[in-house]
Amino acid sequence: MYNHKYFLYLVSDHSDIRIRVTHDLKLDKEFWITRHYDHFIPLAGPLPLAHAIFISDCLRPAIENEPPVKFYLFISKMLNKLKLKSNLLGNEAGCGARLNGVVRHIRRDVLGYLTHLGYDPGRYLIPATLCGSPLQIGSSLSCFHPSILLSEDNISEILGPLEGRILFLREVKGALDRAGLVINAAVIDALQLACLMGLADFIPAISVGPVGMARCNRCGETHRIIETQCARCGNSHCLMCLECSSMGVSRMCEPLFIVKRQGDSQAGREKCSCKEDQMGTRPSCELARFKLPFSLTGPQEAASLALDDFMRSGSLKESLVWAVCGAGKTEVAFRAISRAICAGGNVLYCVPRKDVVSELAPRIAEAFTSIQVAELHAGAHKDVRGISPVGITVATTHQAIRFYQAFDLVVLDEADAYPYAGSRMLHHAVQRAARPDGKIIYMTATPSAELQKRVISGEIFLVKIPARHHGHPVPVPEIIYLNLPGDPDSRNDMAISKTMRIPGKVLETIEASLPAKLFIFVPTIRLTEAIGPSLQNAISRSRLRGKASVAWIHSGDESREEKIRRFKCGEINILVTTTIMERGITVPGVNVLVLYADYERIFDEGTLIQMAGRVGRTIEFPAGKVWFAAKAVSSAMRKAIHAISSMNEEARKLGHIW
Ligand SMILES: [Zn+2]
Ligand SMILES: [Zn+2]
Repeated sequence: MYNHKYFLYLVSDHSDIRIRVTHDLKLDKEFWITRHYDHFIPLAGPLPLAHAIFISDCLRPAIENEPPVKFYLFISKMLNKLKLKSNLLGNEAGCGARLNGVVRHIRRDVLGYLTHLGYDPGRYLIPATLCGSPLQIGSSLSCFHPSILLSEDNISEILGPLEGRILFLREVKGALDRAGLVINAAVIDALQLACLMGLADFIPAISVGPVGMARCNRCGETHRIIETQCARCGNSHCLMCLECSSMGVSRMCEPLFIVKRQGDSQAGREKCSCKEDQMGTRPSCELARFKLPFSLTGPQEAASLALDDFMRSGSLKESLVWAVCGAGKTEVAFRAISRAICAGGNVLYCVPRKDVVSELAPRIAEAFTSIQVAELHAGAHKDVRGISPVGITVATTHQAIRFYQAFDLVVLDEADAYPYAGSRMLHHAVQRAARPDGKIIYMTATPSAELQKRVISGEIFLVKIPARHHGHPVPVPEIIYLNLPGDPDSRNDMAISKTMRIPGKVLETIEASLPAKLFIFVPTIRLTEAIGPSLQNAISRSRLRGKASVAWIHSGDESREEKIRRFKCGEINILVTTTIMERGITVPGVNVLVLYADYERIFDEGTLIQMAGRVGRTIEFPAGKVWFAAKAVSSAMRKAIHAISSMNEEARKLGHIW
C-alpha cells in the first residue's frame, strides 16, 4: 500500500553507483537485479518525499565525484575484467571491502542530513547490518514483487495518455481511467518502474532547499507555503502550498510525475510534405489546412502574416498580438496554428473562462477539419484519450498547469484578464506547458506594463492590429466632470443607498444616449445595488419616464444571465454593472457610461479600455459613445484615452480606417 513514505538507497555494479529514492525498496531491488546490478544498499527512510529527494540531491555530486567512490568503481571494474568478481564480491576482501568503505562514508553524510532536517538518525538511518548484501540473481524469488512483471510495453502503454503532462498520482489515475486503461499492478509501482527505466521522472510537489527554502513544483510559488499537520505522511511539519490549493492540495510528501513528450516536435505525426517553396503564406498540407468563416480585413491579414514570420523565425520565443478591442484576434492566430501543425506540432489555445472554451472549441474545429480539437476545462475532458495533448487543445488557462513541455505553440487569449493577469502560478504554468523550443503568443487589447516593457527590450515580437474589422475607429471616451455622491471605498457611507441622489448630469447623459442601449459601469457591487434602484426611481420622476428601463447585475446575482439576455434583446435598455461585463461580450448598438471613473483601484487603464471597447463592435453599429464620469481625471483615465486615440491614429496612418 502506498503511504507517502520514501526510502533512500544505493545501488552499484562494477562501473556504476547510484543513489535513488523509492516508495518500495523491494520493487527497486528486483528492478536492479534484472539490470544485473550487484549491490543494493538501503540507506534511510521512511521519509516524506521532499526530504528523501533533498538528501539524494545533496549526495549525488559527492557520490559521482568523490575519490573513494571512483576508486571503488575502478577496482571493481578491474576485478570484473579479471573475472575475479564472483570470488570477491560480498567478502570483506578486495572490492567488497572498498564498497563497505564507500558506504560507511555515505552513511555518515546521510546521518548528518537527517539530523539537519530534524530526524532522529537512530530511527531513520537504516542499520548497517542490513546494508551491503550482494544481490544475487538466484535469490530474486525470495523478494519477488508482482509489479516487476509489468513489461516495458505495458509501461509504454500506460505512459501514452500521460505524455507531456505533470500530474499527481490521483490525476494520473483519473487520466488512465478516462483513457480506459486497466493495469494489473499498482499505478504507483508502474510509474516507479517507468522512472527507473528513464521513461518518466518524479519530483516532490514541494521541494525543500538547504536553508529552509521551499518551492512548489506545481505552481512555482516560493512564498505562500505553510507547515501543517499532515494526515498523509504523518509529519507535523508537512509543507503545503496555498497559492495553487484551488487546484487540489500540493504537499511536500507527494510526488509529481513528469512524462515528457517522446521524440522531437514531429512525434506522433508525419511531418507534412509541403516544401518550403510551396508553402507560400500558408501551409498547403492536408492536416494544416483551415478555412476561415470570413475573409480577414487588411489589418488582420497583415497581423496574421506577421505571426507566420514569427513562427518561422527561430530567434524569439514569444510574441504579443496587441489589438484594439473588437479587432477579431482569434482568426488572426489561425495561420500560426496551421504552421505549428504543419511541422507536426501540438497547439494549446488558452482562454480565461470555461464558457469561452465551449464557445471557441467548435469554432476552431470548424476551421481545422483535418485535425483533432480537444476541449479541456475542469469537469470536462472532451478528447479521445483523456488528457494527452492532441492537435489543438482549447483549454481554460488553469489547465496549463498540468502540462509539461507539451506544446509547440501556446496561444494565450485575453492575456491581460483574470485569471492569468497577476498570477505567478499561471505565468509559470504557461511557460512550462510550451516545449523548450516552442512558441508562445499572447493576445490582448490591454497588455500589462510588464509585457510592454519586454516588447521594448526586444524580448517579445510585437504584432499590432490597430483597427477593427469594420474599419471604424474605436470611440474615444469623453470626460464628464461630475461630483457623484458617496465614497466607493466606504462600507457604510450613508450617501450610498437605494435612494441616493442621482445628479441631473447622469440623466442628461442617458437622454443623449437614447435610443441606444447603455452600459453603466460602477466600481463595486454595493454601488450596483444602490445606483440601480435610485436611477430607476429618478427616471420614473423625470421626462425619461417610459423611455428607459433599468436593471442591475453583479457577480453574485443569480438571475444575471436572464437580465443580460433581456438587455441584449432590448427589453431593458440600461444595465448597471460591475466590471464583470468589461470583456467577452458583444451587445450591438450599445453606449458606455463609467461612473466613478477616477476610482483607480478598480478602474485601471486596462479596465477602462476594455469597458470603452464594448462600444461599436459590430458592422451594423460601428460607432457609439463612451463617457467617463468623475470628479477629476485620474492618470488611468488619461492613459486609457491616450491609448485609444493613438491606436486610432496609427490605423488612420496605415489607411485602415477613414
Ligand atoms: Zn505530508
Ligand atoms: Zn503551488
